[in-house]
Amino acid sequence: MKKMQRRKTMDSRETLLEVKNIKKYFKGHARGKPVKAVDDVSFSIARGETLGLVGESGCGKSTLGRTVLNLIRATEGQVLYAGKDLTKLPEHEMRQMRQKLQMVFQNPYSSLNPRMTVLEAVRAPLDIFNIGTKEERFERSREILKYVGMDEYQIYRYPHEFSGGQRQRIVIARAIISSPDFVVCDEPVSALDVSVRAQVLNLMQDIQRERGVAYLFISHDLSVVKHISDRIAVMYLGKIVELATRDELYENPKHPYTQALLSAIPIPDADVQKERILLKGDLPSPMDPPKGCVFHTRCPFAGERCRTQAPDFRNISDGHGVACHLCEEGTT
Ligand code: SF4
Repeated sequence: MKKMQRRKTMDSRETLLEVKNIKKYFKGHARGKPVKAVDDVSFSIARGETLGLVGESGCGKSTLGRTVLNLIRATEGQVLYAGKDLTKLPEHEMRQMRQKLQMVFQNPYSSLNPRMTVLEAVRAPLDIFNIGTKEERFERSREILKYVGMDEYQIYRYPHEFSGGQRQRIVIARAIISSPDFVVCDEPVSALDVSVRAQVLNLMQDIQRERGVAYLFISHDLSVVKHISDRIAVMYLGKIVELATRDELYENPKHPYTQALLSAIPIPDADVQKERILLKGDLPSPMDPPKGCVFHTRCPFAGERCRTQAPDFRNISDGHGVACHLCEEGTT
């Protein structure tokens, strides 16, 4: 019942941003072949929603996040937001749009200018977008720093005087000060001690509840993604191979790669035994991706068809999409 209610609330939300068949290819060094970092990815995000994006290092998650925000130009495809395709916007229009589209990077140590006080760093977006008077910017910066847990006496200090968790709070304050609709969070808690991760995640959830911001939350850590996401997309070698609501994905994973990832999550209860699915080999090079299904070189269920024919991404139930031949054949 609770699950159905949750689904209903999700369905009734207004679509905020739509990514359509986005590709990001980089020039390769060897034999002129492009590196297919992101290869034909589509999804949408609703206002106030968190879409988790998981996958191994090197699968294209961060490149996808940057491409969606047009920090790097897409090779092909569309990113529709506020009636415009971001991939086609000229730089001066995109600059104005950035007020509503922000990013939080993984490393809070390199994200802050060491020569700026915390107050100056957080106020910077207001200065750039010319929001409010000088006094209003100062007041708003103070308020937002207080909101993320900074004391008044700390706001004139420099980044090196803070811990990793505090710095990430400052980075989050800077990201939300211009009241964005959408924030791409690229491994925002990976560099933090386990003890402060939950605090930062809870802060992000509070911000979302109160301000209605949507997140694309990128992480290689499925426990973290489970904590914060409404829906989750699983990425492998530049493609989304499964996308579902959080509960559906954890309770009913369909793609063999998702099943392997979930089987690797440690269970806190020592009495509960779980069979771990071990994947063979490493992630193949995106410069020379396998033919057919890109996962076939590591998939325990790969058949002849998988080696020659790429599976389409298709919905197997309401809001649950998978790219695997087994799902088409109804054998999972
Ligand atoms: Fe495995 Fe084939 Fe499904 Fe790819 S299409 S995940 S190789 S079973």
